[in-house]
Amino acid sequence: MARPLRVTIWNEYVHELTSDVVRGLYPEGMHAVLAAALARLLGGAVRVRIATLNQPDHGLTFEVLAETDVLTWWGHAAHERVEDEIVDRVQRRVLEGMGLVVLHSAHNSKIFRRLMGTTCMLRWREAAERERVWIVDPGHPISAGIADEFFEIEHSEMYGEHFDIPQPDELFAISWFEGGEVFRSGCTWRRGKGKVVYFSPGHESFPIYHHPSVQQVIANAVMWAAPSGGLYLGQGRNIPQPLSPIAARHVVDESLHRAK
Ligand code: ZN
Repeated sequence: MARPLRVTIWNEYVHELTSDVVRGLYPEGMHAVLAAALARLLGGAVRVRIATLNQPDHGLTFEVLAETDVLTWWGHAAHERVEDEIVDRVQRRVLEGMGLVVLHSAHNSKIFRRLMGTTCMLRWREAAERERVWIVDPGHPISAGIADEFFEIEHSEMYGEHFDIPQPDELFAISWFEGGEVFRSGCTWRRGKGKVVYFSPGHESFPIYHHPSVQQVIANAVMWAAPSGGLYLGQGRNIPQPLSPIAARHVVDESLHRAK
């Protein structure tokens, strides 16, 4: 049997400690609900660990990241408290092949903006309105197990277009909101060897991470983002000796190369 996928759930873990509403929904933190959902849906296929902002290195030491196949990221109040050195470290691991599942307000996290290269900004409204998440790619592995064409979240925060992201490689969900807006709520990209997923439902003051379909999509996203193996060749290399002989077509000025 293949070894379990090593998943690290990263949560800034601020709102749960400062807001009675959020603590009421997530007494042990949002990460605990997500971890329980992954354990229930994926069982022995995953081994889950938790990392939070206030731990040394935000819980993302070199050792932890080296032993992480897929990292999930939830942040909102403290994006700027995430050290740039840790962002560099996570980005490097993504390029090497670690999967990254970016959740809800982490659209504005340093790591997501770094990987996308755009502002990643959007429109929002907190009015506890209905969100209808349309599955627009029912054949995508991240859509597996969603029985209908859409599912609904009774009370959600509106996230609307325009969402300033690079064109996704794949779009698996689009959300409609009661107030009229639409949003690309399920997107994927490749960066280096790593797979990146963005999934927008997950506002902290509504019980969205208790929703079975939301949990199913996140579990699917984690499995989909698993590293695909192989070497990462992310460094430039001069290859002076060709693999097969090259007939000289014009004179090469060797001094130009030596000058480097
Ligand atoms: Zn929110």
